Amino acid sequence: MDRKEIESAVGTYLAQKGYGRMALKAAMFDMDGVLFDSMKNHAKSWHDTMAHFGMDLPEWEAYMHEGRTGAGTINIVSMRERGHEATEEEIHNIYQYKSELFNLCPKAERMPGAYELLVKVKASGVVPMVVTGSGQKTLLERLNRNFPDIFKRELMVTAFDVKYGKPNPEPYLMGMEKYRNTLSPALPRNEAGVPCGEIAPNHFIVVENAPLGVRAGVAAGVFTIAVNTGPLPDEVLLNQGANLLFHSMREFCDEWEKVYEELTVDS
Ligand code: CA
Repeated sequence: MDRKEIESAVGTYLAQKGYGRMALKAAMFDMDGVLFDSMKNHAKSWHDTMAHFGMDLPEWEAYMHEGRTGAGTINIVSMRERGHEATEEEIHNIYQYKSELFNLCPKAERMPGAYELLVKVKASGVVPMVVTGSGQKTLLERLNRNFPDIFKRELMVTAFDVKYGKPNPEPYLMGMEKYRNTLSPALPRNEAGVPCGEIAPNHFIVVENAPLGVRAGVAAGVFTIAVNTGPLPDEVLLNQGANLLFHSMREFCDEWEKVYEELTVDS
């Protein structure tokens, strides 16, 4: 990527948000489709599940719903295919079936380039974080096995932390909050005991592969980098407000030095 392109993306972001400069401290990474090549499994499981229940959900469409709750996805498809929402019982059965199919899929590999990028990010003095809608119980263990010495448990946001999930900005706002609570114990507190000052959206970046994830990062006011690791056209991610777009984690890794410089120097 041309350095000018990165500079211009940062300039546009700063002008929109009214910040004088970027001051990158932490990078919030989504997990499925960014750190793990797991979206193919999700898409196939969704397609096969809906077919089993007599509804059509093409695999590409599963990528459009990525990040939504299971119930949200089921209801959208049910409305379209049958003209009414699914009952609680149907939602339970459909989602359980989908989870069973997903668990039968081969284990998702680490996304090529992801570990190398995380090592670079950490070496730059930027704190890598995970912000995911996933609620797998073995998530931390799996992350530590695949990305040794990169992530800290107290700096992770998972399905267990949030009420709304993406595309609501909540998970990323919570990520910023966790960063502040964990790394800035000396900050002054407001009446509610919440540390105040110091931390702002321009201290972060979001790294996302899904349209709804990009929307969540943008809504949280954070410079959002889309990595298009799936089958959707780039425009779908850019239309949600992505500030920069790479076509793979490998490409982002190769360009990290340029991105880092633009995100830390005065613009
Ligand atoms: Ca994702």
